[in-house]
Amino acid sequence: MRLVLASNNAGKLAELQSLFAPLGLSLVCQGELGIGEADEPHLTFIENALAKARHAAHHAGAAAIADDSGLCVDALGGAPGVRSARYAQDFAQPKGDAANNRVLIEQLARASADRTARFVCALVAVRAADDPQPLVALGRWSGVILAEPRGEAGFGYDPLMFIPELQCSVAELSAADKNARSHRGLASRDMLQQMREVWRLG
Ligand code: IMP
Repeated sequence: MRLVLASNNAGKLAELQSLFAPLGLSLVCQGELGIGEADEPHLTFIENALAKARHAAHHAGAAAIADDSGLCVDALGGAPGVRSARYAQDFAQPKGDAANNRVLIEQLARASADRTARFVCALVAVRAADDPQPLVALGRWSGVILAEPRGEAGFGYDPLMFIPELQCSVAELSAADKNARSHRGLASRDMLQQMREVWRLG
């Protein structure tokens, strides 16, 4: 079965492709079908993921899945949160992971000594734009924010997220080790189970 992914983020696509392989699902990015990005005006990951999944399903005329995810830092009141992809732009800085990481280091240096944070991933899958039974899965992964980036793997805020149990940053993990523990890995395994039960896949 082909599932349209309501994102063009290459980092997410690579992780989700391997996480959904067990169901024989192949993910195709909405951009490959000429579908533009949906607006993400909502306050929560779940609401944004639902809006993105409906948008992709509507334009593709097919089942779609959306990932809305980000980093929530306790000392910043949960920021960057749903603004994670565009955090630096909110401070009139350039777009992109490097600028986002720089701004996060600066903002946290001004805040308290509490550096605890968590990655959050909301996955929503719909069989059609008007599907009355969207499948919803959430995953969380806790860590602490480093003062300097460490590691080269992954994407986004991975070089700044230190996992105390593993004594390394997420960007120092292999793709398989990240998927085994991450917010996206947790949400994906829950989603796979729901697809087996409700969509009778696999
Ligand atoms: P979205 O495309 O609006 O869901 O934004 C996702 C953003 O959250 C990404 O651009 C990253 O900045 C951040 N993010 C989400 N998941 C991860 C992850 O697994 N590692 C690092 N950053 C992530």
